[in-house]
Amino acid sequence: MSKEVTGTEVAGEKIEVSGIVQGVGFRPFVYRLARRLDLNGDVRNAGDRVVIRIAGPAAARDAFAAALVHEAPVLARVEQIVRRPAQVPEGAFRIVESGAGAVSVGVVPDVATCPACRAEITDPKARRYRYAFTNCTDCGPRFSIVTGLPYDRPATTMAGFPMCPACRAEYEDPADRRFHAQPIACTDCGPRLWLEGDGDTSADPIERAAALLRARHILAVKGLGGFHIACDATNADAVALLRARKHRPTKPLAVMADLAAAHALCHIAPEEEAALSHPSAPILLLPLKPGAPLAPGIAPGQRHLGVMLPYTPLHHLLLAAVGRPLVMTSGNRSSEPQIFRDDEARECLAGIVDAFLMHDRPIARRLDDSVARHVAGRQRIMRRGRGLAPMPLTLPADFADTPPVLALGGELKSALCLTHGGKALLSHHLGDLDEPATGDAFETALADYTALFAHRPAVVAVDLHPDYRATRLGEDLAATAGLPLERVQHHHAHMAAAMAEAGWRRADGPVVGIALDGLGLGADGTVWGAEILVCDYRTSRRVARLSPIPLAGGDAASREPWRVLLAHLDRALGRSAVDGDPRLAALFAGKPLLTLRAMMDKGLNAPLASSAGRLFDAVAALLGLAPDRLSHEGEAAMALEAAAEGEAPPYPFALRADGWPFEIDPAPLFKGLVADLHAGRPRAAMAAAFHTGLAEAFTAVAAQVATAEGLTAVALSGGVFQNARLLEETVRHLEARGLTPLVPSQVPANDGGLAFGQAVVAAARRMG
Ligand SMILES: [Zn+2]
Ligand SMILES: [Zn+2]
Repeated sequence: MSKEVTGTEVAGEKIEVSGIVQGVGFRPFVYRLARRLDLNGDVRNAGDRVVIRIAGPAAARDAFAAALVHEAPVLARVEQIVRRPAQVPEGAFRIVESGAGAVSVGVVPDVATCPACRAEITDPKARRYRYAFTNCTDCGPRFSIVTGLPYDRPATTMAGFPMCPACRAEYEDPADRRFHAQPIACTDCGPRLWLEGDGDTSADPIERAAALLRARHILAVKGLGGFHIACDATNADAVALLRARKHRPTKPLAVMADLAAAHALCHIAPEEEAALSHPSAPILLLPLKPGAPLAPGIAPGQRHLGVMLPYTPLHHLLLAAVGRPLVMTSGNRSSEPQIFRDDEARECLAGIVDAFLMHDRPIARRLDDSVARHVAGRQRIMRRGRGLAPMPLTLPADFADTPPVLALGGELKSALCLTHGGKALLSHHLGDLDEPATGDAFETALADYTALFAHRPAVVAVDLHPDYRATRLGEDLAATAGLPLERVQHHHAHMAAAMAEAGWRRADGPVVGIALDGLGLGADGTVWGAEILVCDYRTSRRVARLSPIPLAGGDAASREPWRVLLAHLDRALGRSAVDGDPRLAALFAGKPLLTLRAMMDKGLNAPLASSAGRLFDAVAALLGLAPDRLSHEGEAAMALEAAAEGEAPPYPFALRADGWPFEIDPAPLFKGLVADLHAGRPRAAMAAAFHTGLAEAFTAVAAQVATAEGLTAVALSGGVFQNARLLEETVRHLEARGLTPLVPSQVPANDGGLAFGQAVVAAARRMG
């Protein structure tokens, strides 16, 4: 490969660009840029970099180097540019093909349809007018169609679609925006659409699907990373029918709308509009406008709506034909993983949908829509999926020599993480592993990722919990391959994830950590979930906790908030006071209190837990905001957040510093809540006062710990920090005390970020 220079050479320079520059249309971009600036030379891929040689006037070369950063393709991430003088071959600028042995590491996320392709599908004179699979180098399917490496058409699910001469010509022309766009296709040679389960096969499938949706029918729509179930989001009957058929009574439904319609539904700040329109096109939680033209059943009790813009040509065409926002919820049965295979969709969704809008481009792997919201000035990813995975995360500077780690994450919102040379690859959302179907999909994803990224772990990292499916899988893998196994405490992993994303180096030492979470096994064998830790990457010690309560019925207590409410009230007020208060007694009418209390007394199936998630459940139940039995995780906490309004003096917590660890005792909180309940204080103010009280209690203790230990940074993580009000207040209190909050943004604060934290802890321990 070094012999491509045959003619004379002139003085010029060599520019090495590293970052995410392969598989993203970088070389054609460089080619067009060099031609525009009249520079000679060449460009080629080399390992994980792109190497450019250019000759021409110094001013043009400087402009070229600047444009490499500022005009880079949407998918590229230029991290470093190194320029040095070099001899450059004479002649017009050209792209040098990668030689044998050149490894392409460029697997990039799927990209929402770009403006140029959008214009093309609406232009009656264009070759791809109304073609639902239009894409180019700047947009289209990527990770959802990749079946192997290097990223090349035969290694995608487009392998079965031979290019027509017109597409081939575009594909081979360096000046064309489809140069080497692997999924390139057109009506003559590419995937096609059809409608199933509907008698009328003569009509255009998009027009017919739109007519059905307008007539209140429910449709399955095969998309980019899986199937959606769609209906008219403005029609109450359609939404109610969808909920009934899907057995999904209250969990908010996401809506797909164009930008103009989204503005009619929600308040959208400029940075939120940028996030919606970003190539990753996530579902963004946005504040609902009062009286928004939407069916009332979309997000009952919520002040926010999950909105995404159309992100494939199919979505653009369908939405334009319907002319209204659409519900676009995961195509699955209740809590099972999203369906992405045709036959499975036909079998599992038949009882839910009236017709299927299908296409014949296979989906290589399930990719749920990503979910994010803007809190405390930054985007916070809540679910990492389509559009984000498998974009690597850069580890802090002194992790460059990290050994390759495979981290397997937790039980819920599971994801894997692979580290390699200063980068971490956090997988897409893989679902809850307590579902058998998800467990199988997790093992498939593990094989998929390790093969696709040719990852050979030197260390395996797992949670402390012995019964998690991911833990057992990691133990087996480590034992079989003879690899060391690192067990990482749940909340230590959460803190490490926050630290690593913030660029906190190993050399920066320990931080204070506030973990507000659901449940995770603690280092002492009890269940944790509301802790203050002092931790570095290798070790963690707990310095404070919320007073633990018994979870009567174990897992049942996580589904039935009244169980934890009873434990909190009994503890705060005493049993006779609870029983003697008609208002409280009414909350437990018909409940087996005797049995529950006996379980708690005897410690029978009533593990002690200090969980912030369960505290939210209890307070929501007390305020009448939680059903007897939750239909989805986080339901009560979301209702409590949505109910909070205005500013309110905080409820107190007591600090008990007589034992170890310190205890943050919520008894005064419950006394205050019960008194206000009797006084008829508005629920919105009580919910607000609870959030403020919790934020103040934990930040006050964290600040004391920081002073005592001489620390300045406070990591905040755990699923409860997805609560915008709580996170904003906590950040504000910490900053007011001169402390630096480290809050995850690209890594989910919930258990979806656990594997990333496990990976950095395991890496740090192995590096010593
Ligand atoms: Zn495009
Ligand atoms: Zn074609």
